[in-house]
Amino acid sequence: MNITTTTIAAIATPMGRGGIGIIRLSGSKALSIVKSLSHRENFVPRTPQLCTWKDVDGEVIDSGLVLYFSGPASYTGEDVVELQGHGSPVLLHALLRRCIDLGCVPAEPGEFTRRAVENGCMDLSQAEAVVACIDAATERAGKQAQKHLAGVFGKKIEALMHALTGVVAHVEACLDFPEEEIPELFLSQLCDQLKRDLCVPIDALLASASFGERLFSGASIAIVGAPNVGKSSLLNLLSGRERAIVSDVPGTTRDVLEVDFEIQGIPVRLIDTAGIRESSDLIEQEGVRRAKETADVADVVVFLADASLRDTWCFDGHYDIAVFNKIDLINPSKHKQMDGIALSARTGEGLDLFLEAMSEMLGEKLVDGEDVFVTNERHRIAIEQAKEHLQVAIPMLKSEEQLDLAALELRRAWSALGVIVGVGDVEYILDRVFSEFCIGK
Ligand code: GDP
Repeated sequence: MNITTTTIAAIATPMGRGGIGIIRLSGSKALSIVKSLSHRENFVPRTPQLCTWKDVDGEVIDSGLVLYFSGPASYTGEDVVELQGHGSPVLLHALLRRCIDLGCVPAEPGEFTRRAVENGCMDLSQAEAVVACIDAATERAGKQAQKHLAGVFGKKIEALMHALTGVVAHVEACLDFPEEEIPELFLSQLCDQLKRDLCVPIDALLASASFGERLFSGASIAIVGAPNVGKSSLLNLLSGRERAIVSDVPGTTRDVLEVDFEIQGIPVRLIDTAGIRESSDLIEQEGVRRAKETADVADVVVFLADASLRDTWCFDGHYDIAVFNKIDLINPSKHKQMDGIALSARTGEGLDLFLEAMSEMLGEKLVDGEDVFVTNERHRIAIEQAKEHLQVAIPMLKSEEQLDLAALELRRAWSALGVIVGVGDVEYILDRVFSEFCIGK
């Protein structure tokens, strides 16, 4: 237990009224503060005890359970106490104020988890998984976050670092004993080892990143097409709400509207773009520009046409799925002429086929072969950097003159991977990561 740190406290449950509200304390004074607050001495670790918490005049603030974890066997590695009271913002604030009067300081966002990392209870990728668990928008994302939390991803990165350390040690040994002759095959064997034990798994991890990142930040599907073909209607049908303005006047959808839902456990944002057509109206022109921009960066582009209007069947731009809307207006015998999915945003006919096609298209675009994925940009960038250093190092390993430079690049690759689990310039990395946390975590 680190006795030099302050004792921190924060409300750990979301603001608002609820059945239970929790205040968490961590630090060397946590237990003594709770003893004063509860007028009680005997707290047994990991055993909930019903207590009444009083203010300075002896008046009751609230009552509830005290759960004490004796450090280092706690979340932060320090003494941790949870006060599980009633979920009332007023009572929780009064209780927190009393804890502060008794000697705690309010916790910074993410400070509990930061202490856990600093005290070696978890690595940095596990700390990030705490946020990922909280933020997971789908069950599938939640399951992946649990794997990261359990350290599966961190261990994978550490295994890569371990393999790299082995190669660096061999190269360093060659440099330390220049008088020794390096066996002919030795360096090429090291190159093979780097490719097999590092480059191959790194490529697999990077291939998983597009899927992993979408699992948390969401995939985007843009609907493009001429004005009035039914883009807003389709969006409304999917969202079940009157979100986009549906109108008979072409060009009424002027801004990009969005609806969030889930396909195969991936959070998906469907974006309705302004009808793409040439326009003299300045606001509409801006809408068209944004629509093109949205379509350019979307994971999947759906081109929507009006089945009853041939003029709308052509689209000058890239798209992944063609959908013919308003099939309720045409004779079913004409369905055959349309090369795409037949749909009616009015009756809902064909919606299942449309969702299936989007799901297939997403599956094709996002590889999910790995068991544990790269799920955030920070990790992906670090792995890409490691790969770049390896790519520079490998050809250098082929000539004895460049061995020192190769060793430098290999150490850089090692440091790039270390950034993921929190080895290296620790303070800088911790500041960056914990700026995204909420208070009480
Ligand atoms: P957008 O400009 O592409 O967003 O088109 P809207 O969603 O605003 O729809 C334009 C018009 O077409 C509205 O009057 C809608 O009610 C109508 N509409 C949309 N979908 C269908 C459909 O499947 N069948 C029929 N009959 N009308 C539709």
